[in-house]
Amino acid sequence: MDKMTIEDLGLKDKRVFIRVDFNVPLDENMNITDDTRIRSSLPTINYAIDAGAKIILASHLGRPKGKKDPKYSLLPVAKRLQRLLDREVAFLPDAVGTETEAAVAAMKPGDVALLENLRYHEGEEKNDDLFAQALARLCDYYVNDAFGTAHRAHASTAGITKHVLKSVAGFLLKKEVDYLQGAVANPVRPFVAILGGAKVSGKIGVIENLQDKVDKVIIGGGMAFTFLKAMGHEVGDSLVEPDMLDIALRIADKAKERGVKFYLPVDCVVAQSMSPGAETKIVTSQEIPAGWKALDIGPASVRLFSEALGNAKTIIWNGPMGVFEMDAFSRGSMAVAHAVADSYALSIVGGGDTDLAVHKAGETENMSFISTGGGASLQLLEGKELPGLVSLTDKK
Ligand code: AMP
Repeated sequence: MDKMTIEDLGLKDKRVFIRVDFNVPLDENMNITDDTRIRSSLPTINYAIDAGAKIILASHLGRPKGKKDPKYSLLPVAKRLQRLLDREVAFLPDAVGTETEAAVAAMKPGDVALLENLRYHEGEEKNDDLFAQALARLCDYYVNDAFGTAHRAHASTAGITKHVLKSVAGFLLKKEVDYLQGAVANPVRPFVAILGGAKVSGKIGVIENLQDKVDKVIIGGGMAFTFLKAMGHEVGDSLVEPDMLDIALRIADKAKERGVKFYLPVDCVVAQSMSPGAETKIVTSQEIPAGWKALDIGPASVRLFSEALGNAKTIIWNGPMGVFEMDAFSRGSMAVAHAVADSYALSIVGGGDTDLAVHKAGETENMSFISTGGGASLQLLEGKELPGLVSLTDKK
């Protein structure tokens, strides 16, 4: 990575603002139902503690839209973090202001404070410069470890960097970029991209960027049916994006021209409605009956895709193979998760739904790397810059 990292700074006695992604899921009683995001930030926080910094942590939670709303308070996160770090975490009830500044001024080396939800202030998402300056007044150095929001140019991910001495990447951000950019830039071949999810339109940037770099592309999920339709197959009531048909054909043709192996489902699980109890059938992709929709890849596709993955050395997977949230349509995604896990490849999984599918398959531990950010990982795989990354200080 060409940006400075936390390891390039002397942190002793410095006030260090760490932008983390503590946007965790909470139940109706404000209990944290999954603390992965908090745990992912621990290496950076512990490093700063050991280095004798005064640590100011900041995050957003949910979408309070610029207003104070107790539903989106970070207080439960402060409590969980306190337990995970096994040390006191001071919770500061406002992200900016004189009281917050006074509390920070009283901090000692090794102290940890968590600011209340940044998005209680409108200036955060608007990247307002005054709000960015108010945040910058709290610190000497800025660390971005919030990969999940690095694709947003907000006050705490971009604006603040103009007003601090040095802005650097934390360990999580660095790891994400190293894996997601590194694998694409220097893949060990054969390099296979598995792309799924609902729509072609959501992944078009990724397909176009990876198409020039991979040896094989495997397409599953709802987007496969736009490709099949474009090739002249009847796909019943399956998800099709009419305005993507030409683009789909162009992608498939380009793959052929470049000698990229292009795999589409050869069979699928169909139902008349997308509901857990619906009657299902397995049919070939050429025989999807009218009135039925394909909601998962079938067993022959699983065998085909697993074969194609057999000799892979690098795999990037983004998007489930079917409606994996319902057991009846989850087998394709589960089987592909097992095939990726069993491969001898460096396996990199995009965040969001793919992460959930891998988790459901019980293969989380068997992937080389699972991204913590859905949108941000897509943007990196599209070959685009992340505002939260470009604004960091260049490594000379
Ligand atoms: P994405 O956010 O684009 O990765 O899409 C993920 C969503 O695609 C998941 O919620 C899946 O349920 C959905 N999905 C996957 N396959 C299909 C399909 N064949 N038909 C409709 N939706 C699908």
